[in-house]
Amino acid sequence: MKQFQNLNARSLQEAVDLARQAGTRGQVSAFSGGGTDLLQQVKDGTDPADVLINLRTVEGEDQVTEVAGGIRVGGQITLTELASNEQIRRDYPVLAEAAAVVGTPQIRNVGTLAGNVTQRPWCWYYRNGFNCYKAGGDRCYSVVGENQLHAIFGGGPSYIVHPSDLAPALVALGARFNVIGPEGERSLNADQFFQLPARNPRYENTLARDELLASVVLPTPRPGVVSAYHKVMDRAAWTHAVVSAAAVLELRDGVCNDAVIVLGGVAPIPWPATEAQEVLRGRPVTAELARQAGEVAVSAAQPLSRNAYKVPMTSAVIERLVLALADGQTAV
Ligand SMILES: Cc1cc2nc3c(=O)[nH]c(=O)nc-3n(C[C@H](O)[C@H](O)[C@H](O)COP(=O)(O)OP(=O)(O)OC[C@H]3O[C@@H](n4cnc5c(N)ncnc54)[C@H](O)[C@@H]3O)c2cc1C
Repeated sequence: MKQFQNLNARSLQEAVDLARQAGTRGQVSAFSGGGTDLLQQVKDGTDPADVLINLRTVEGEDQVTEVAGGIRVGGQITLTELASNEQIRRDYPVLAEAAAVVGTPQIRNVGTLAGNVTQRPWCWYYRNGFNCYKAGGDRCYSVVGENQLHAIFGGGPSYIVHPSDLAPALVALGARFNVIGPEGERSLNADQFFQLPARNPRYENTLARDELLASVVLPTPRPGVVSAYHKVMDRAAWTHAVVSAAAVLELRDGVCNDAVIVLGGVAPIPWPATEAQEVLRGRPVTAELARQAGEVAVSAAQPLSRNAYKVPMTSAVIERLVLALADGQTAV
C-alpha cells in the first residue's frame, strides 16, 4: 500500500496553508473529512495523495448555527447528525432524508457533508484504474462500454453521474456554498459549484487548487414549502442512487405555487428538472399533473446503449415524489 502522511488541521485556514505547503514540496495533498471514500482511493492508487489534511480536527465546523436569512451548516457535520438534527428534519426534510439514505450507518457516522458533496465519481472505469478523463486521460470508456449506471442527461465528453445524495437536495434548497482557499473566502450558489464535463471533464466542481468546501448556508424556508428526497437503488442499502430526486414544492390549498426538482444519478451534476417544474408551477396538483411532470422531465434525455431503463424510472420517481408531497407525506 502506498505510504501517506496525515496532518491534523486546527483551523480551515491552516488546512489551506498545509495544502499549499505540500504543493511547494512537490507533494500531492487531499482534504479529508471522515475518510470513508478518500482512504480507499489512496489505497487503490486512484487518488495520488501523499498528504491527507484532516479537517475533522477543526473544532466547531460540525455545527448548525443561525445566520441572517437562514442557517449555516458546517462542512464537518456528519451525515448521521444531519439526518437526525431536529431543525434540519423540520425545516429541510429533503436534506435529512438524503443524508439518511447514504451508504450504511457506519459511513453516515463518520462521513461528512463536505466529503459527500466533493466525493469523486464511482464510475467503475475510473475506480478501477482506467486512464479516463477523470484520471487525467483523454477518453470516457463508458461510451462504448459498460454504461448501465451512466448519464442520460448532460453527458459528454465524460458520462459519469454525480454520486452525492446530498448534492441534489442542496441545489433544490437553493443553498449557498462557502469556500476557503489560498485567495481567501468566497461564496457561490450550489448550482454554480458543480460543473459539466463539457466545461472541465477532469473535475466535477469548481473548487480551485487547495480550495476546500467550508460550509453551506440554507435559506429560511417560505411558508407552505414542503420537501422530500426519493432514491432508487439496485439493492436495499450500501449503494449510490441509480436515480434520485429532491423536490421542494410550495403548496397552498392544493395548488403548486412553486416547484424545484433536482435529479441525482442521471447526470454529471445535480440535474434540474426544469420542464417538470414549469408544468407544476401555478397548477393544482393531481395524479395527472404529477404524471405529466414526470413525462416532460425526460423529454431531452439521451440514454446510452445500456441505460435507457433510467428514462421511465426518472419519470416514475418524479411522479411519486410530487404525489407524496401533495398528500402531506415527507418521505416516499
Ligand atoms: C460502501 C460505500 C457506500 C457509499 N454509498 C453512498 C451513497 O449511497 N450515497 C453517497 O452520497 N455516498 C456514498 N458513499 C460515498 C462516501 O463514503 C460518502 O458520501 C461520505 O459522505 C463521504 O464523506 P467523507 O467525509 O468520508 O469524505 P472523504 O472520504 O473524507 O472525502 C471524499 C472526497 O472529498 C474530498 N473532500 C473531503 N472534504 C473536503 C472539503 N471540505 N473540501 C474539498 N474536498 C473535500 C476528499 O479529498 C475526497 O476526494 C459510499 C461509500 C462507500 C464506501
